[in-house]
Amino acid sequence: MNNSVLVYRGKEIAAYGFGDPHPFGTDRHDVFHAELEQAGFGDAIEYGHPRPALVDELALFHSADYIDKVSRLSAEGKGFLDYGDTPAVPGIYEAASAVVGAVLCAVDEVMHDNHKRAFVPIAGLHHAARSGAAGFCVFNDCGIAIEYLRKEFGVRRVAYVDIDAHHGDGVFYGFQDDPDAIFADIHEDGRYLYPGTGAAEETGTGAARGTKLNIPLAPGAGDREFHEAWARVEAYLAEMRPEFIIMQCGADSLEGDPITHLCFTEEAHAVAAAALCRIADEHCGGRIVGTGGGGYNRHNVARAWTRVVQSFVES
Ligand SMILES: [Zn+2]
Repeated sequence: MNNSVLVYRGKEIAAYGFGDPHPFGTDRHDVFHAELEQAGFGDAIEYGHPRPALVDELALFHSADYIDKVSRLSAEGKGFLDYGDTPAVPGIYEAASAVVGAVLCAVDEVMHDNHKRAFVPIAGLHHAARSGAAGFCVFNDCGIAIEYLRKEFGVRRVAYVDIDAHHGDGVFYGFQDDPDAIFADIHEDGRYLYPGTGAAEETGTGAARGTKLNIPLAPGAGDREFHEAWARVEAYLAEMRPEFIIMQCGADSLEGDPITHLCFTEEAHAVAAAALCRIADEHCGGRIVGTGGGGYNRHNVARAWTRVVQSFVES
């Protein structure tokens, strides 16, 4: 096993974005990688390069009709993939497939014990549903990774842990009736922020009722509220005994994001990432993949994601 943290970079994933003046611009990749380089982790990190996901891999989570629709609209390069948040810019199919491919590469590397931890910026596109785009998210790399871990490696109890300001509705509703899908999400209360879901009462359906953890926080909540909520996430994960952890560490939960109202500092991301590494060491043979998620203040994106990688390096 190589002890370095694997971090993905490359023009293929950098291309995922919707141009000016859309908040999800293609500059987020380079802003993060510049900060990461500045942090000087040296040999403690290694860079990975993405491959495109195969259609069959996309189809582990998404419907064939929806994959076809993205392919067609991406080639046409106009209109929207949803009701107005997610434009069908030219080449978005290829960029979205590269993001998924990078996450699946990261999963492969970690499952083959080449690395214990990996981080994929730009990924963590948690709003995409099985049959549709939503909220800047075209293909749900986290949902696909959960299905991929099951199919390729027989790993069923994957924990998805999300500290992005928005509720990870695409992942939640994709697995809400699945008792083996471990889901913990701290987010801004849906009464005040897109997508409007993720109430505490939403704990799963059918046989999975009571197996998911949604923690909505009031607008303006800061590190104190985060840490109270995080203690509940840790207790939940200890009880659920995951075999693999996927972290979605959206930087839009930091103070100063232009489209949300939470006020964490980057310390929240560092603490969460370090705790998840400890839990991964205890239950999952150390296996954790981090995904960048949202974040529309460029300074916050660069700092929060770099702190997550730092925690992966130091833990
Ligand atoms: Zn978000």
